[in-house]
Amino acid sequence: MERLPDMKRIAIYPGTFDPITNGHLDLVERSLRIFDELIIAVAPSHKKKPLFTISERLKMIKRSLRHYRRARVEAFEGLLVEFVERRKGIAILRGLRAISDYEYELQMAHMNRRLKTDIETVFMMPSEEYSFLTSSIIKEVASLGGSLRGLVPKNVEIELKKKCSM
Ligand code: ADP
Repeated sequence: MERLPDMKRIAIYPGTFDPITNGHLDLVERSLRIFDELIIAVAPSHKKKPLFTISERLKMIKRSLRHYRRARVEAFEGLLVEFVERRKGIAILRGLRAISDYEYELQMAHMNRRLKTDIETVFMMPSEEYSFLTSSIIKEVASLGGSLRGLVPKNVEIELKKKCSM
């Protein structure tokens, strides 16, 4: 479908965000140079047995996005492409860090294209300093009491400390 020039370009950034890191936020910032609006779509991801509940993740993301007027967060369930369509999104944003991300991301992008041909998947690379940053490694370091300065927003660092001392 051809888009009219005055249409808002909305992208959806899906993921588990358990928890959100500065790598995710780096992508938020980069994507806002291309898109008019960004919606972070948080999946429950029960299979991954997240450390934080969906409402805890939403709360942390909301706070981390307070400086971005054009970005917001929502929870979603079900088929991602249907959520994108409901929100009038034109693209799915995903991050590519190392080659290890590539195969899974390609599978997902092709499947999503098959399900809805007019929704594009856009891949962006984070800044080098976040290229090896994952929510899993953050949780591991937090559980061992290591410093996370510069890797996650301050509020996330506090929540991780609380969670790990439970
Ligand atoms: P998922 O369960 O979908 O993998 P994640 O929260 O782990 O959810 O990641 C969501 C998206 O953010 C994925 O596209 C992932 O590649 C990207 N991402 C995760 N960490 C980073 C990072 N450090 N830099 C850039 N993109 C990242």
